[in-house]
Amino acid sequence: MPRRKPRPANASARFHEEPRPLGDVFGRTEQGPDGDEYVVRSIPGSRALKTYRCPGCDHEIMPHVAHIVAWSTSGGEEDRRHWHTGCWKGRHTRGITRRWS
Ligand SMILES: [Zn+2]
Repeated sequence: MPRRKPRPANASARFHEEPRPLGDVFGRTEQGPDGDEYVVRSIPGSRALKTYRCPGCDHEIMPHVAHIVAWSTSGGEEDRRHWHTGCWKGRHTRGITRRWS
């Protein structure tokens, strides 16, 4: 077994690491405010290679930014959306359903 080289202090070196397939095992389901069940998956920054539009805030999610991808189990994975992690977590309180009363 070859010994591992010490990791360089250069922060950009981490982008050369092999992305681990951990994102695939992070999938879980959550009940949405509309009663639908959603599959929710965390995308680590190392696997976020494209720019997406977040439906929560209508801003772009830039490459290498860890975020959430979610889709309704009734709609299927083809209907998935990419969300900022904070927008996904905050969507209950941002006007989609209001429970003030
Ligand atoms: Zn957002």
